[in-house]
Amino acid sequence: MENRRDFFKKVSLLTAGGLLAGQSTIVKAATSGVTNKNASKIIGLQIYSLFDELDKDIPGGLKEVGKMGYSTIELAGYGDGKIKGIEMAEFKKMANDAGLAITSTHVNPPVREYTKENKQQIADFWKKAADDHAKIGVKYLIQPGQPSTRSTEEVAYVGEIFTEAGRIAKAAGLEFGYHNHDGEFARVIPGGAESVSGRQGFGRRAPEGIEIIYDGLLKHTDPSLVFFEMDVYWTVMGQQDPVEYMKKYADRIKVLHIKDKAVLGQSGMMNFEMIFKQANTNGIKDYFVELERYTGGTQFEGVKGCADYLLKAKFVK
Ligand code: MG
Repeated sequence: MENRRDFFKKVSLLTAGGLLAGQSTIVKAATSGVTNKNASKIIGLQIYSLFDELDKDIPGGLKEVGKMGYSTIELAGYGDGKIKGIEMAEFKKMANDAGLAITSTHVNPPVREYTKENKQQIADFWKKAADDHAKIGVKYLIQPGQPSTRSTEEVAYVGEIFTEAGRIAKAAGLEFGYHNHDGEFARVIPGGAESVSGRQGFGRRAPEGIEIIYDGLLKHTDPSLVFFEMDVYWTVMGQQDPVEYMKKYADRIKVLHIKDKAVLGQSGMMNFEMIFKQANTNGIKDYFVELERYTGGTQFEGVKGCADYLLKAKFVK
């Protein structure tokens, strides 16, 4: 019996190998061994995009995502050592069964204001989060929420805490990254009590000589320990050009959030061709589609619309 089982195991492995070699439409996600026969390109999804629609049937919902042509996911909903209340190993199995490799996760520390007093609390939090995600082989541990950054000094301190988080993540075998919204493109001054945002703080209207928070975070983090996941939509909303940032900080911006006002490509405000061209030049391999609350249909429909756009786009390799 043993031999017979081994024989069938070998045969199925050979068949899988043959299919991989013969059909370019089967994508093997680089970081895992997970294959998805429905994926012709490596496209990632931030599962936040599905909102509570995913919670109704998580294994079934993930299978839907796999069928749409996504092959990697970035987690959201970490808490108490679980994802959306499910044991991490179990969640990983559900994802892998759907042909999805978990490459990244979004996790926020429990405090927004970083002080000398809560420095240890933040470090302890990252230690647990890193260990929990390391167990299921996640590559990127990413903070998506902006801490309080009201002055140049506060930006520098946040950078210090990020670097420490990077050290903790690295010790667990992960890489620590930071994800932006538009607030990071507001500006700060030394000794400031509030960031200069809104009309006066963003883009060309901003007074010269004061620091863009995002630039400060780049400056005050250790490049060997902290990378940046640039959300291209929020960068545009912050009145900055994501392509310019990708050119200037090619070694720091390692992952992207591919996002539009709603379904990708529909608003006309995002130049995805230029973004993907620069991403290719920079050698960016990982990116995740993100969709906010969608009003044109269900979240699943919106997320499928995004996949369809990227699968069809010639500039997406
Ligand atoms: Mg995002």
